[in-house]
Amino acid sequence: MNEVRPADGDAATGYRAADGMGTARAWCVLAPNPSPMTLDGTNTWVIAEPGSSSVLVVDPGPDDEAHLRRVLSVASAGDRRVAQIVLTHRHPDHAAGAARFAELTGAPVGALDPAHRLGSEGFGAGTVLTEGGCELRVVATPGHTTDSLSLVLVADGGLLTGDTVLGRGTTVIAEDGSLGDYLRSLDRLRALADEAGLRVVLPGHGPLLTDPVGVLDYYIAHRRERLDQVRAAMAAGARTPAEIVAIVYADVDRVLWPAAEQSVRAQLDYLSGALSRVVVLRR
Ligand SMILES: [Zn+2]
Repeated sequence: MNEVRPADGDAATGYRAADGMGTARAWCVLAPNPSPMTLDGTNTWVIAEPGSSSVLVVDPGPDDEAHLRRVLSVASAGDRRVAQIVLTHRHPDHAAGAARFAELTGAPVGALDPAHRLGSEGFGAGTVLTEGGCELRVVATPGHTTDSLSLVLVADGGLLTGDTVLGRGTTVIAEDGSLGDYLRSLDRLRALADEAGLRVVLPGHGPLLTDPVGVLDYYIAHRRERLDQVRAAMAAGARTPAEIVAIVYADVDRVLWPAAEQSVRAQLDYLSGALSRVVVLRR
């Protein structure tokens, strides 16, 4: 059975839109932290094979006691116990509640960044996590941050993406991220979508997406288009990130301009890196 429960209703009607969406083995508990950057709020994912006595929780979310208690009640329904907590990356809207949730459940916290692990040996790319009674394969997808990972929920053809792919709009490259890494990660996920027969993206924010290939192609095309726009803005005389944002992101809500400026900085880093490689090649 390939059951997919889509987000309920229009996101514009409230942050509960994504609550309860998912697949046969993934259940979203939406955190009450909506904002322009977090969309409806953070999606905390409870992963379990139906009938399993243990579950795995991806991204406990912000350190919000009421939210963590809700996650615990969903996760422990039917006497299940939380056996593993996983972080898609270190940002506080995903990770700040991890220590408290580990305290509530006694479960270890796994993350690619050793500083964010708790009571756990940790894991790397390729590790297959089975604490939820089903296979969850870890894929390193650096870019948004250096420690970003995605997870393949094999039996449902699901891809948990954290902030690498969002349910609406596109991702920004954080200060500790890298656009070069991000583009390579998108290519890796795009290849995986074919190899693993992915059918649904379960993002860290916003509604789930039932066309992984379409959304990844769009993300890759969007990045290339933005790079072309940044090059064009520079050719037209824009010099500072702020000047470039005013041109390239003219159609984007101004509250997002500081984040856009961060993205432009990442693009300038990427372009200058590409440029220095060209120079090296010519020598
Ligand atoms: Zn986030």
